[in-house]
This record gives sequence, structure tokens and C-alpha cells, in this order.
Amino acid sequence: MMNNYSSIVNPSLTGLGLVRATRTIERGNARAFVKDRLFHVAGGNVFEVAGNIDPNTSAVVVSGAYGHRRAKILRDTHPGLPLIIEPTSIGGYVATVAAPFQIPEAEENELFPPTLDSILDSAIAHGSVVAMTPTGQIDKGDSATLKAALALANEIDRNDVVFLLNLSAGWLSDDFLRKQIVAVINRSRHPVALAFIDRKNPIESGKRLRAYRSIFIESTNDVIAYRTDMAGFDARAHGAIAAAIGALPSARRVTPKGKGGRASDPTDLAPHMLVADLGRFAKSKMMRNVWFIDRPGITCSCAACHGRSIDRLFEMDEDRAEGHLHNVYELERMHAATVGMTQVELHAWWHEFINGVLGAYPQLETYINRPISVPADVVIWNED
Ligand SMILES: [Zn+2]
Repeated sequence: MMNNYSSIVNPSLTGLGLVRATRTIERGNARAFVKDRLFHVAGGNVFEVAGNIDPNTSAVVVSGAYGHRRAKILRDTHPGLPLIIEPTSIGGYVATVAAPFQIPEAEENELFPPTLDSILDSAIAHGSVVAMTPTGQIDKGDSATLKAALALANEIDRNDVVFLLNLSAGWLSDDFLRKQIVAVINRSRHPVALAFIDRKNPIESGKRLRAYRSIFIESTNDVIAYRTDMAGFDARAHGAIAAAIGALPSARRVTPKGKGGRASDPTDLAPHMLVADLGRFAKSKMMRNVWFIDRPGITCSCAACHGRSIDRLFEMDEDRAEGHLHNVYELERMHAATVGMTQVELHAWWHEFINGVLGAYPQLETYINRPISVPADVVIWNED
């Protein structure tokens, strides 16, 4: 297999995985369906994502206010594509003890008000393979609401449900709270999608990265590392049953309710590109202005870049779409390298991969003839 980039290579990414078998969509069985899949969290870009992932090993999470409508269109345009409709409660509702799940009031001409069951049914009816609980955001240390959400989820007597846990990042900063997360995960009768909320990367610090990893190590239940970045692969290596990652930064975390907004500097809207061999997302603008200021950018051979330089993209919509599609291909390339692996093999692969990342930085330094620091999270992931 050819290297993806010019000038740098991570040897752990040149393989194609072990199993390329056709996989059916395991409807009605949440645990079987999510196992080992890479989920691409997508909003407006979902139609670009849909046509460019392997439906046997991956799936799409349809997020945003138009989730049901988009899922319905996807069912017609991509009938073989497995998808999950993400409840809008993830970004738009704050959970309380009395109402940990968002159950809307009846609309004017509706005969019966929605119930939890009817909400789950509606997601399935619109094509979602499994139904996620409409959990709201749970503030740091709000253990009562966390327990109320668990109790309500455990009352759901069906096998096509994933319990969404949607927690403020601060839960990761306190070991007592972290243990509560593990306890709730292990007491859930459903597989759990674990997401963290912050305006920036929720698991940026070393403390949070280690806490995040340890949750997957200590959980005995099935957990999806949900709305995350490369940390999703670290989670997989340490016991997560699946990972859900997004091509856009806003899909790699949960934004606190009411705290969304656009970047103040429009040039920051130029896409953040996943350079998988380096184990990181890098801003186009940074690559142009810092890494490749006096050398041509390294080239990428993915089906979005076609051998063009990785730092070529700006903030225009077409450029953004192209960059985000590149990210989809990169995530698929990483996932493909792990398909068919056992948990032990996956753990070994991840550490080899991080070794390869640490080896790729000197290659890049040689190419640009300047030092580059290795990202802090890569250093943490290198810890066994
Ligand atoms: Zn590319």
C-alpha cells in the first residue's frame, strides 16, 4: 500500500485491517450493532459523509435539528447505510432530577403528548438503527440527576436503546466524580454513549486524558466514546466498544447549551485537517503559516485531496467541505487499520501507532528543517 502523505509515514497506517467481510445492519440489537463500528458524527455534511464510508465497518450519526428529516432522505439515497439519529437534547436541554430526559410537550393539534417510548419509536421509524435516550446536559457533580437518568434508562425494556450520558467536562477533573461515572455505566442495562461538554476540547489536560482513558478500562459495560477526537482511538484501545468522531470540531465535543457561536476570526474557519500519521488535527492556517511557511505543504493522496498539499484550504464553504471530507477519509483509513482486531491486538496496535506518530514528527522536522513539538495528548497516549 502506498503512503498517504509525502515526506512522512506512520507504518501502523499502511495496512488494511484483517477482515473486510460484509456485515449486516444488526437492527433491534444495540450491543451487536455498535460493536467495533466507527461512527461519523455529522450535521449539514451528512450527505457527503454518507457516500464515503464503509457501511460494513462504519456508520453515521445524524445530528442537529433536522436529524429526522435528513435520516429519512438518507434512507432513500443510501439504503444500505447504518445510521443513528442523535437526540437534539444533547446540545439543547439541561437535565434535571425531575426530568433528565427531554420529553417535549404536546403540540397544538397532537392528540397524545410524546412519551419517552414514543420518542424512541420515532427515531427507529425514521431509520435510526438504535434509539438514543434524549438525555440532557448534566452539570459537574449533579449526581442526583445522573442517578435519575440511569433509573429512567433502566426502566426502558427494549434492546434497541443506547443510554446517552452527556456530562460537563468537569466530571473528569475529580476522581470521586469519575468513579460515579464508571458506577453508572456499569449499572446501566443498555450500552452507554459517553459524551463530554465544553466550549473547547473537554479532555485537553493530562489529568482529564488519563481520567477519560481509565473510565474505559474500568467499565464492564459496553461504552461508546462519543463525540470525541483521536482520544476515541485511545478509548477503543482501552476497552470502548466503539467510537463516534466528527469531521468538524463542533462534532468532536458537546457545546454547552446556549454557548454555541462562530469563530471570532473568520480565517479560523479554514478546516482543521486530520493528519492521521501525526496523530492530530492541524489547522490549515497554522500549517500554512508555521509548518510550511517556506516549503510546499506535504501532499495527501486521499480521494478529497488527490495529491494536493494538505495546507491548501481556506475558510470558503467549498474549501471547508473538502477539508472535512479529507477528515472522513482519514478517520476511515485509521479505522480500517484496526478492523477485525481483538481487544489485545487493538491495544498493541494503538501503542505501535503512537510510536509511529512519535517517529513521524522528526520526519516532518527534517522536511521543514525546524523543530516541532509533539502534542501533549500524544505524550499521554504513549503512556501504557
Ligand atoms: Zn486528504
